[in-house]
Amino acid sequence: MNNQLYSARELAEAIRFSSDVRRPQVAATTAGLAAIRNHFYQNELLISQEVTPTLYERLQAVYQRLFIPEVSVEAFVYASPEMQASCLSDETSECVVRFTSRLVETMSPQEFEFVVGHELGHFLLQHGEVEHDQKSLESFMQMRSREISADRTGLIACNSLDAAIRAMMKLFSGLTEQHLNFDVGTFISQLKNSSSNANEIASHPSMLVRCRALLWFSMSGYFGVDKKPSRETLAKIDESIEKDLHRYIDGPIRNRIERAKENLSMWKMAREITEDKIFDKNEQRRFSEVFGEKTLASLKNFLQDIPGSRVQEALDERVRSASDELEVLIPSAFAEEVTKIECRVKDWLFRA
Ligand SMILES: [Zn+2]
Repeated sequence: MNNQLYSARELAEAIRFSSDVRRPQVAATTAGLAAIRNHFYQNELLISQEVTPTLYERLQAVYQRLFIPEVSVEAFVYASPEMQASCLSDETSECVVRFTSRLVETMSPQEFEFVVGHELGHFLLQHGEVEHDQKSLESFMQMRSREISADRTGLIACNSLDAAIRAMMKLFSGLTEQHLNFDVGTFISQLKNSSSNANEIASHPSMLVRCRALLWFSMSGYFGVDKKPSRETLAKIDESIEKDLHRYIDGPIRNRIERAKENLSMWKMAREITEDKIFDKNEQRRFSEVFGEKTLASLKNFLQDIPGSRVQEALDERVRSASDELEVLIPSAFAEEVTKIECRVKDWLFRA
């Protein structure tokens, strides 16, 4: 990695959102990137000084603000009615960023800079390929944290909170100035007072939470290396954003995950406790101590309808479906959580 990219990464790392946890690097797929790049060269328009001078200038401005050497990035435009931007990188010192024609046509020069800076933020922070098809709730939470980090490099890249918020509004709504008479000042003041109208926020959580997160970050005064906020200031801002995320988005998700874990623990305990085909008073008491009288009553009800010879089979089936349900929610932490649950169940059984 050359020194210049080192400075760029250092800058991005300094403003990484606290919940955007660094993952171990994925194995480099340089060959894969080379092949894809070849495809882009043949089918898409490379942004260059000669062919697309205005876009080229914007890119140069962004590279300068983010300390990225020009050789590290290849940027393409391709024809599409969708408003999209993406970043591909093989975790080395190079990346490819791509923009749809619709996005380029829709954004003002400064708004375009925000989008470029956002995409390059994913590259600098080594977010890897953003896996949009991996739709677990866990990955959604992770993706949201990455977006908050990338919005920050976007803000530094365009050097204007107004432009950044406008670009986000255009991306979210798909609208242009023709229909979007967007008064950034009004919108921002609405955000500042948003604790008084929490319901409104809840209906568009990710957009408003991202905008609020960027607004708070901008209030730290961070618009370049020479104006760094202290670690304490940034930590305070991140804490407020985490609260927002928890309140409007992740809270319900985390609750769902907790319920799924509880459900799996309950069926596993029922399965263990009836292994000897007996569910005596002592075992029932222990079960209700952990899961409550109501759950005990439901379990007894459930067992009542099943012939003794089929009880284990029926409970195995329940354990399996509870386990599947949890795995869908937390695919990467799943194995670890199951081990924890099994230990806890054993602990409950042998404690009495
Ligand atoms: Zn992004």
